Amino acid sequence: MSRESMRVVVVGAGLAGLTAAIDLAAEGADVTVLEARDRVGGRMHGIRMSTGVVADGGAAYLGVRHTELLALIREYGLHLASTAMTGDSTFLIANQRTTTAGRVPPLDAVALGGLFDQLEDLVARVRPEAPWRSADAQRLDRLSAARWLAESVSHPDAHTFFPLFLGEMMAADPAAISALHMAFYLRSGGGIRYLNAFEGGAQQWRIDGGAHLLCQALAERVGDRLTLRRPVRAIEQDADQVVIHCDSPDADAPSQYRADRVVVAIPPLLAQGIQFRPGLRTPRATAATGRGCAVKVHLDYPAPVWREHGLSGWSVSTDGPLLSTVDDSPPDDSAGVLTAFVTGAAASEYSALSTAEQTDAALTHTRRLFPRLPAPTRCTVTDWLAETYSRGCYAALFGPGDWLRLGPTLTQPHGRIHWAGTETSLEFFGLMEGAIRSGRRAAAEVANAETPSSPRKVLTP
Ligand SMILES: Cc1cc2nc3c(=O)[nH]c(=O)nc-3n(C[C@H](O)[C@H](O)[C@H](O)COP(=O)(O)OP(=O)(O)OC[C@H]3O[C@@H](n4cnc5c(N)ncnc54)[C@H](O)[C@@H]3O)c2cc1C
Repeated sequence: MSRESMRVVVVGAGLAGLTAAIDLAAEGADVTVLEARDRVGGRMHGIRMSTGVVADGGAAYLGVRHTELLALIREYGLHLASTAMTGDSTFLIANQRTTTAGRVPPLDAVALGGLFDQLEDLVARVRPEAPWRSADAQRLDRLSAARWLAESVSHPDAHTFFPLFLGEMMAADPAAISALHMAFYLRSGGGIRYLNAFEGGAQQWRIDGGAHLLCQALAERVGDRLTLRRPVRAIEQDADQVVIHCDSPDADAPSQYRADRVVVAIPPLLAQGIQFRPGLRTPRATAATGRGCAVKVHLDYPAPVWREHGLSGWSVSTDGPLLSTVDDSPPDDSAGVLTAFVTGAAASEYSALSTAEQTDAALTHTRRLFPRLPAPTRCTVTDWLAETYSRGCYAALFGPGDWLRLGPTLTQPHGRIHWAGTETSLEFFGLMEGAIRSGRRAAAEVANAETPSSPRKVLTP
């Protein structure tokens, strides 16, 4: 079906919105993309280090099952960099520093094994295509992950490890998400083993030069159909058309756009903040829906100096702020980049500190982790909790009650309004792969929607 006469506005130039825009343009639709920030990419964002190397301030890692992402990387001529994991791991558990080959922390192995058995069992019970229809969904959706742990496992070492695991996997405080969301997320991302693994798992590669390069390449293809600095505030529709109201940076720029269809490709907490007329029949987020809590700290070195000491740079700490670190140095070793993650409850506390306090806490922690290393040349903090147009990361956290309330209508169009964004994808929810799949799905929905009766023009103010 020809889409030549269809005018579509896409709200949000993250990976989901850009994918939807390109697919729709390929169908012949007349596409306009409205982006709130002065850059594209959303949660994919490059940060320049003092050495000139660009590190991932947002999303970084991908693996072999991220097939749509890998296809785009190939199509746009980008390259993969393997995540370096050679050398010993470092653990700071209850103030005791140890280094060891392998990635198993010095905690009771039987207790951790028992925890993973219970988790695997829970994950296997989720219906990934409709988590709200899983066996026992009512109870699991009401139960927080913290409560699930208390009811399922008693060993204190399992309780020590669990928040670290959920922090690393989901940037979640176990008290803030439902057991159903935890199980769904782990299932949707390919299972615990895949999500947790570097080699052969979801952390096998990064995009060389930064994940944001993919969004920049997509944005180039979208071209002048993309407009930055246009936060959308309200969307109204009647039987014939949709009018999109946004802020505009100056009086001459349009603040209203008219379209036949809209794709809203932004995180659910932000979609909930848009005024819809007529109003939504079901919300995009509830009072229980939380922000993913992650702050990334980049530690800059002239070279990957930890390798000279037989260390991989990978670490896990039970006390914050830097709950884990990873070697994200460029593949040619021209500089050293350690990425530290502050997640879950620790991220909320860390985010409340001043910049000087954040740097001080990060450097103190780094000295305890790696006492033989020189101090990093710079410490750069990227606080996603403070990002107005992300409201946290890696992804929104579905709290108790959310899946049963939000799940059944997650992708259901509201009249002429369609939904994209990684949080609308039941496959690889929360990940770059989920964002692409959601953009593709929304574009296909629009392309299959009824053809408008006449072309629409963009309104001037
Ligand atoms: C620190 C961090 C680490 C991560 N790690 C990984 C990882 O290793 N691997 C992985 O696969 N994923 C990871 N993720 C998740 C990944 O970044 C996201 O799944 C993906 O980028 C989401 O894309 P999206 O298009 O759905 O949403 P977004 O990237 O959030 O894009 C939404 C866009 O909409 C814009 N916007 C918001 N509100 C409005 C409005 N009202 N009007 C107009 N525009 C608006 C935003 O500015 C943004 O550009 C990570 C994320 C972060 C932040």
